[in-house]
Amino acid sequence: MTTVTAPAVPVPLLDLKKQYATIREEILRVTADVYESQHFILGPRVEAFEKAVASYVGARHAIGMSSGTDAQLSVMMALGVGPGDDVVTSPYTFFSTAGAIARLGARAVFVDIEPETFNLDPSKLESAITSRAKLIQPVHLYGQCADMDPIRDVARRKGVPVLEDACQSLGAGYKGVKAGALGEFGAFSFFPSKNLGGFGDGGMVTTQDDAFAAKLRAMRMHGETSRYHHKFVGGNFRLDALQAAILHVKLPHLDGWARARRANAAEIEALYLAAGGRPYEAGGLLFPREAAGREHVFNQFVVRVGKGRRNALKKLLDERQIGNAIYYPVPLHLQECFASLGGRPGDCPEAEKAANETLALPVFPELTAEQKSALATTLASFSREL
Ligand SMILES: *Cc1c(COP(=O)(O)O)cnc(C)c1O
Repeated sequence: MTTVTAPAVPVPLLDLKKQYATIREEILRVTADVYESQHFILGPRVEAFEKAVASYVGARHAIGMSSGTDAQLSVMMALGVGPGDDVVTSPYTFFSTAGAIARLGARAVFVDIEPETFNLDPSKLESAITSRAKLIQPVHLYGQCADMDPIRDVARRKGVPVLEDACQSLGAGYKGVKAGALGEFGAFSFFPSKNLGGFGDGGMVTTQDDAFAAKLRAMRMHGETSRYHHKFVGGNFRLDALQAAILHVKLPHLDGWARARRANAAEIEALYLAAGGRPYEAGGLLFPREAAGREHVFNQFVVRVGKGRRNALKKLLDERQIGNAIYYPVPLHLQECFASLGGRPGDCPEAEKAANETLALPVFPELTAEQKSALATTLASFSREL
């Protein structure tokens, strides 16, 4: 590591304080309104935010939920997913994608990913669908949609509904349609590090189906259909009025923030190449690509590092105080808690390879020119060391 000569400019992986500074007054005003109203559970602010998200996504209904995880869980509960059922999904994703399945006693069936997009490989989907399949749950990972046309073709032929795990991808596009309007259901998260982040946990389900929308509204209220009358068992899965008010202030900024993320990703790659950064095959980096017909919103900016050097790059960036993270080091079919599913190394080779090669880098909208340059030159020097 002695030949690297980048300037020492700290670069956080994400700096939410800068974003907050641009909208502070408005946030303080709407949160003060909520305090004055003393109305904290559901109500007009949640309804207004739901309408705004439904219209933004292009879905008939949006139902505010307590988190992305609870959004996924509620859809599965509304579909009656349970013991004896399969939910077919990606092994390369955040834990909750499969955690929700397991909590209901159903079996997660993992289909390997495409190396270019890190998303479920449609060509491997059909053979994974048995008569037990109750739901297909593709993930739009890092801010880019899965290849939904062939996924929907298989789903339609097999008669299985699709839940998009769009938790990282509010605003992402596929052939002119937004994530969350591509399947029967979409699940979103407003965890603070997502592109639309709340001041705490929050989530949303989108759907085109009137009857399911009504069921999901009851599901988040313990299955209550009229006061203290419960047709089925749900949970407390509600979005707070305070979160809805804050998120509604942020929503009009979302597209601008996504444009800045895309521009930063392109600029960092260009700076890397200009600084003599080597290609992946030579031990350098492979930058993320937008697949045909897709609009990537870069919730994460994830590169691949060749020649088994990912951990070495991580160590160097840590030393230089450049934020980075491994999403995700262990694919879900190899997680200890899913050992009973019988997953083995080699079952999903592309997911396993990605787990060993990927590193998420800073891309947030407010990165300074100095920070981008420090990041790119450090990466380029690293790539030339081999
Ligand atoms: C964040 C995330 C979730 C879960 O959302 P929470 O709001 O944290 O519960 C699910 N799936 C993916 C892919 C995510 O990134």
